[in-house]
Amino acid sequence: MLSTGTVQIRPEHVKRTRSPLPWWLLTSRRWTSPRPINVYVVEHEHGLVLFDTGQDRASVTDADYFPPGLAGFLYSRLARFRIGQEQTLATQLHLLGYDIAHVRVVVLSHLHQDHIGGLGELGHAQIIVGRSELAAAREPFAEMNGYLTQHIFHPGLKWKAVDDTLDIFEDGSLTVTSTPGHTPGSLSMLLRQSDFPTLLFVGDLTYDVTLLASEHIPGIGSKSELLASTRRVAEFAAQYPGLVVLAAHDPTAQSLLKSAMSKNVDR
Ligand SMILES: [Zn+2]
Repeated sequence: MLSTGTVQIRPEHVKRTRSPLPWWLLTSRRWTSPRPINVYVVEHEHGLVLFDTGQDRASVTDADYFPPGLAGFLYSRLARFRIGQEQTLATQLHLLGYDIAHVRVVVLSHLHQDHIGGLGELGHAQIIVGRSELAAAREPFAEMNGYLTQHIFHPGLKWKAVDDTLDIFEDGSLTVTSTPGHTPGSLSMLLRQSDFPTLLFVGDLTYDVTLLASEHIPGIGSKSELLASTRRVAEFAAQYPGLVVLAAHDPTAQSLLKSAMSKNVDR
């Protein structure tokens, strides 16, 4: 895994309260401590796979990255980012010993700005995304729903839309599955391998896996869909004992992954 900087969000965003979204977004004075912007990197025998691509550094260096006016103001209320010079997707991959040119498949949990950062450099890869997520990002005024279309739809990207599930290499090792709620077309990815616990990458379905386990859902997204997808994760956990759930902005994700990779399970 790698992280393209850090993000601070509102506590009401991490865990749903009675306060409605427009209210806390406009009035909250608190930020969480900095959280990672995780990208998961999978070495598969058929090529390198990424789950999400992080936040673009241009978002903190380019004054025109965010829209002007009301939309820009709302983005600034929602999250604040710190992204160092070394914290680009390409540099972080390089530090792990990979070349961004060798990425074969990218799975995007959803199309919000902090998950699509490296897309401009991934024209050679297949980009897997939920079909309803693509549709949501193409709606008029999509930027009011968190979709910065000019940073998503780079010319020449090879999109592949997923309806419900997709077995990426048709070998059962990497399965993409629809887990809507945070956004209409949010995806998760299940990674099964013979010697280690099964991993489930969930994007922004939760910001804290202990909250997920107790069915406390985040403050953004469809409540009923978030609950249904949270229960879907519980079904996976029942099906795959020892399942490790890894979220995009969960501060514990790194240690969860580390301990999972140190567990060599006999089957
Ligand atoms: Zn996110």
